[in-house]
Formats: sequence, structure tokens, C-alpha cells
Amino acid sequence: MLKIGILLGDDIGLEVVPEAVKVMKAAAAKTGLEIEWHPLPIGRKAHEEFGHTIPPGTEERLRGLHGWLMGPIGHSAYPQKDPTWVMPPFRKTFELFASVKPVRSYANIPSVHKDMDVVFVREATEGLARAGTVVAGSGEFRPNDEISIGMRVVTRKGANRVARVACEIATTRSRKVVTTVHKAPTFKLVCGMFAEECHKAVKDYPGVKMQDVLIDSFALKLAMKPQQFDVVVTTNTFGDILTDLGAGLAGGLGLAPGMCVGETQAMAQATHGSAPDIAGRGIANPYAMIMSGKMMLEWLGHKHNEPKAVETAAVIDAAVDRVIAAARELTSDLGGTATTQQMGSAIAAAV
Ligand code: ATP
Repeated sequence: MLKIGILLGDDIGLEVVPEAVKVMKAAAAKTGLEIEWHPLPIGRKAHEEFGHTIPPGTEERLRGLHGWLMGPIGHSAYPQKDPTWVMPPFRKTFELFASVKPVRSYANIPSVHKDMDVVFVREATEGLARAGTVVAGSGEFRPNDEISIGMRVVTRKGANRVARVACEIATTRSRKVVTTVHKAPTFKLVCGMFAEECHKAVKDYPGVKMQDVLIDSFALKLAMKPQQFDVVVTTNTFGDILTDLGAGLAGGLGLAPGMCVGETQAMAQATHGSAPDIAGRGIANPYAMIMSGKMMLEWLGHKHNEPKAVETAAVIDAAVDRVIAAARELTSDLGGTATTQQMGSAIAAAV
């Protein structure tokens, strides 16, 4: 049995997260996977009700869950410098150190490339230090008005554990090749340590092959022929840029799911923001949130030895494939006329 939280978030989160839950419930009913659902307050609605965007109790209850669906937070519209209006720092609080983002193309959806199936695993807690990642002080400083200095952090532990996530994901795929992306010949210590730890980690995964590609050359290869990559592991800032490039190659934000994982917990979170410009109109594409939920089930299934969760994820995958291939119930960003709910219901029915 899995314990899963539902955090709607703001704006289109209120529309797309319920569709993800609908699809996950339908798929779990089919495979017999038991899920205990825990709706928890977060964001603007939580502020209206409890006076805080992360009300007391929400974090504590998340600690007891295997994972949760996290809707987007419309933080850019929050009042500034008011401590009751904050962006949830869940990655840091729960040490969700790996951000996993797949990039996949579909035959009938316009994209720069076809036949892409790449999974990016980005280290999410180290890299270029900033206020959000340091305990005291800042990773940046300006000794005088002409000079600014920033620091980059790579630790053996951080590099090794993110490489393990990449290797574990590779074991579930057919090609089983992990590409480590860095620039070790130039950044000998930081990138060097990252690469070294990746190669140490892969030794524990006998079926997995590892190759190194330098960041600049990788950007070129990804843009020209992304089909050559399977799983990609990289440091925080390189990953930040490459995952957006990947999402762009595959067809944009509506098609970019994601999750953040730690040692045992996972948070399903689409790449897109809360999209206030289209909120409340029922036109947001629920794909990214649904597929984020699917990824979380698959990962939790492997991690907690729940084969039914892996099976449930496969059922969702196949249902999404069918709805996209049929092209009858797609939202307008995918060239269709369906509402968020119609697309979600079509996927749930295809399950
Ligand atoms: P943030 O700063 O919170 O990351 P943002 O304002 O940079 O977010 P988004 O909120 O992701 O960006 O929206 C960017 C554009 O993509 C908007 O025009 C929005 O309408 C569109 N968009 C985002 N998500 C979706 C979706 N699920 N379906 C359709 N369009 C979307």
C-alpha cells in the first residue's frame, strides 16, 4: 500500500492535479494497487484558510508519506517579504536531491525531433551556491562594485547518490546506458569529482554502461540527434539548462513531466509553472501532471518493492499513448479542442 499526498498548488494546479489523481485512481483500481490518499493544504488556498501558504501540519504529514503530487505554486504573484507567503522549500526540507525529467516525443505531436526517449537526472541540492542552498550567508558576494563572485559546490556524497538514481533508472530501461555530462578536463576538481563518483557508482550496477560527454559537445549532440541518449546524469545548473532544452525539443512545457526523489520519498511535479494567464478556463494540458504521477508510481514501486505500482504506471503510460495517438481528446496546446477535464477523463477511460 502506498501513502500519497495531494497538494493542488495554485492556478492551473487546481485543474491539472485532480486529473492526475483521477487517472491514477482508475489505473490503481485496474491493477489492484492500494493507495491511501492524503489531501493537504498548500499555496494560496491554504493562506485563505489557515493564514499561511504552508500551514502547520502539512510538512509533518508529508514526512509519513511515500510521495505526493505537487501542483505548481504561483509564487511570483505572492506578496513579497511576507513570511506567511512562501514557496514551499520541499526539495531542501525532504532532501529530494535528484530531479528526474523525461523527454519523449510522440509521432503525431509537433516536435523538433521524433523518436526521442531520454531521461534527465539532475542533481538538485548542490552546484552553484545561492541563498536557497546554503545554511548561513550566501554563495555569492560582491567585494566591490566591479567584481561579483559565485561558488560552485560538488560533494562526493551528492554526486554518488544522484548517479545511483540514474543507474537505478537505467536498469529499468532497455538500452541501460547512462551518459554523465560535465566538463572535467576544464573544471578538474568540481566536475572531476562528479565524474569520478558517477564511475564509482555504476560499478554496483553490472548491466548498466556509462559514457562521458562534455557539456558543450552534449548540447550540440542533444540538439542534433537526441535519439542517441538514454539516461543522462549531470550537475544542478547544467541540468537546469539541458532539461529546458530537452523539453523544447519534445514539444514544450505542456509535455514536460518531472519528479524529485530522495532516498525513499518522491514528489511528482510538472515542469510548468502555475500559468495564471490560462487558469480557470479549463484549457490547461493535464499531460505533464498525469505523467509526473505515473513516474512517481513507477519509482516508488521499484524503491519499495511494490510491483503493482510499477504495473499501474505502465497502464497509465499505455492509456496516455492511446489517447495521444487517437488525437480526439487533446487540449488546444496539442492542437485539439478538449478541456482539461475531457482529456483527463479520456485517459482515465483508456485505462
Ligand atoms: P513559473 O515562473 O511559475 O515557473 P512561468 O510563468 O515562467 O512559471 P508557466 O506558468 O509555466 O511559466 O507558463 C508559461 C507559458 O506556458 C504560459 O503562457 C502558460 O499559459 C503556458 N503553459 C504552462 N503550462 C501549461 C499547461 N499545462 N497547458 C497549457 N499551457 C501551459
